[in-house]
Amino acid sequence: MEHRDLIACHECDSLFRKPPRLRGLVAHCSSCGASMKGVRHAGLTLDRICAITVAALITFMIAQAFPVLALETRGLTSHATLFEAVQSLWRGHMHLVAAMVFCTTMLFPSLELVALLYLLLPLRAGRVPRAFDAVLRLVQFVRPWGMTEVFMLGVLITIVKMVSLARVIPGTALFAFGALTLMFCVIAAFDPCMLWEIRDEVMNRGGAPARRRNRQRDGAHGDAASPTQPATSSFRAKHAGLIACHCCGLVHSLSMQGSEPHCSRCRSPLHARRPESITRTFGLLLAAALLYIPANLLPIMHTSSLGRTEDDTILAGIAYFWRSGDWPLAVIVFVASVMVPMLKLGILTLQTVAAYRGSDWQPLERAKLHRMVERIGRWSMLDVFVVSLTVSLVHFGSFAQITAGPGALAFGSVVVLTMLASNQFDPRLIWDNVRRPPARAPS
Ligand SMILES: [Zn+2]
Ligand SMILES: [Zn+2]
Repeated sequence: MEHRDLIACHECDSLFRKPPRLRGLVAHCSSCGASMKGVRHAGLTLDRICAITVAALITFMIAQAFPVLALETRGLTSHATLFEAVQSLWRGHMHLVAAMVFCTTMLFPSLELVALLYLLLPLRAGRVPRAFDAVLRLVQFVRPWGMTEVFMLGVLITIVKMVSLARVIPGTALFAFGALTLMFCVIAAFDPCMLWEIRDEVMNRGGAPARRRNRQRDGAHGDAASPTQPATSSFRAKHAGLIACHCCGLVHSLSMQGSEPHCSRCRSPLHARRPESITRTFGLLLAAALLYIPANLLPIMHTSSLGRTEDDTILAGIAYFWRSGDWPLAVIVFVASVMVPMLKLGILTLQTVAAYRGSDWQPLERAKLHRMVERIGRWSMLDVFVVSLTVSLVHFGSFAQITAGPGALAFGSVVVLTMLASNQFDPRLIWDNVRRPPARAPS
């Protein structure tokens, strides 16, 4: 049985009554402080998010079609589009790194935009598109892996790096990527889980003209916003015999748990906790920790210039920035490439060990650490993007040639593995053994 009047926090499993529509406010869990997913608020109307998604898609095509940067030195010129950067890595036998750059900067962002439009346009018109469940799940899956903003920072670092070697000419795509980064910030503020609620409303209304209704629904009408009702907040859904769907958040009774229970709304398998969460997180962490050693010891780039060859590790690149006076860049690269991966490995190990031991130690702080790891993990891809652009730009024959080294593959793998580990860790395990004051069960 499903409970549409209840909502469970996706981070601590606290159970709440679903709040009324919020006028631009975001509901936060009173237990762990996480922003509640799937709670309707009128921050962005469907019309606005549609407009921004269309604009982002056009800008995305411009960003792909034109060169990001051009280099000019001693009468030689070279330019690179993002796709050429991927091709350079592929030709240099860095197939996995090429696939990482292709997926995070081209495939996943474009899939997110196209899939969002596929869902939003019919919903705006009061229809539910075909394969709604699968397409919305796709949006939720690809969203954390699109890294346009990290790539943009990578381009800026490449510019500073190249300025001492050649004249750097910004390309049309550089400005397009700048605009795209801002648009993705707005799109990221839109919670796709809300679309499940909108779909239910559209289906319940039965296909009457919808644009006017959408305006009423999404506009700033209605009662004053009120935060999530804490009436049932001292209950975990699991302890109340309920399961919240991982994908759409719909709360179900545990009694429906027969063989392979599935969500009645999105058809995803239902689990009280992510299955094998600790084992999978630990396995991925172990692989990431092992690869972190070659990631730092092996060169990420080979440079050959006028018969001289040089290998650069990540730390050597940071030292180069520091020596040449670009200390702000040295700090940025050090934080993104050295500190963030180490922090991620340390924090995820702490979380896994604490969850394995069923510890109730500092749950709020551990929940905040988990949120921080989720947010900062992607920024470690910075060095991989810098390498891919540099390799693509510097190919001046015997004068200067740069190729990617094996360290780039190891480093990219560490980033992907730690992101997967953080994704596999179920934050509700942090709260499972925390004692709570007794309260009345939800009706
Ligand atoms: Zn919570
Ligand atoms: Zn579901």
